[in-house]
Amino acid sequence: MTEQHTLFAKTPRIIAGNWKMHGTKASVQALCAGIAAGLRRDPAVMVFPSFLHLDKVQEMLGTHCRVGAQDISQFPDQGAFTGEVSGAMLRDMGMAAILVGHSERRHVLGESDQLIRLKLQRGWEAGLGVMLCVGETASERDLGATQERLRHQLRSALGQDKLKGPLAVAYEPVWAIGTGRSATTEQVALSLDWLREELAGLGHDPDLPVLYGGSVNMRNAEELLAIDTMDGLLVGGASLQAESFLEIVAQARR
Ligand code: PEP
Repeated sequence: MTEQHTLFAKTPRIIAGNWKMHGTKASVQALCAGIAAGLRRDPAVMVFPSFLHLDKVQEMLGTHCRVGAQDISQFPDQGAFTGEVSGAMLRDMGMAAILVGHSERRHVLGESDQLIRLKLQRGWEAGLGVMLCVGETASERDLGATQERLRHQLRSALGQDKLKGPLAVAYEPVWAIGTGRSATTEQVALSLDWLREELAGLGHDPDLPVLYGGSVNMRNAEELLAIDTMDGLLVGGASLQAESFLEIVAQARR
């Protein structure tokens, strides 16, 4: 089995929790205890805590699911880069994967296409799997530019790759993230088709896992999981409570 298959398989579907900048020492331990109590070993479940909590989460959940980081430095290995955390350091901590290109990093923190591409490469160089997030803004959708936006984001991150590594793509429309307004199943299915077409054109396995993220919760997960071309969910807010996260995992395993 290749690393692609062992890390980002299509079945069972991937359920990933992005904890963003949330949690205290106590609340993260309680969340981990809750997840550990309700989750049988499931390597297709992933959580992405803050850097600060990675070690504790790995200790508490590492045998139940996979743990990844929300970001990675553009610089390799180690060096005089205050505040940065490299792929080599993440790998050393037992991390399996990283998120790259999340809309909050693109739009709130101003990460460029070039920086996203570099971070993705750094992840692969360090032997990490990369979950690349892409998605259009509300105005891009209104202008009918969704496909063009997704194409651009994939091309700029993955085009002319010399190095390839384990990859999953998360379609996350910016207007659906943290807004309580998830995309419709038709919108998701169409975007996933576009992404697969583009991945194939770029020489990537069009069959690699493509997930959806954006206001997924216990109530809408079932409907989204009915999209048979969708390989999993990236969950933000609803992954911060063990009950809702476990319920979404349970729905994906039915
Ligand atoms: C996310 O942060 O990737 C996300 C999808 O957030 P939410 O589920 O809260 O919309």
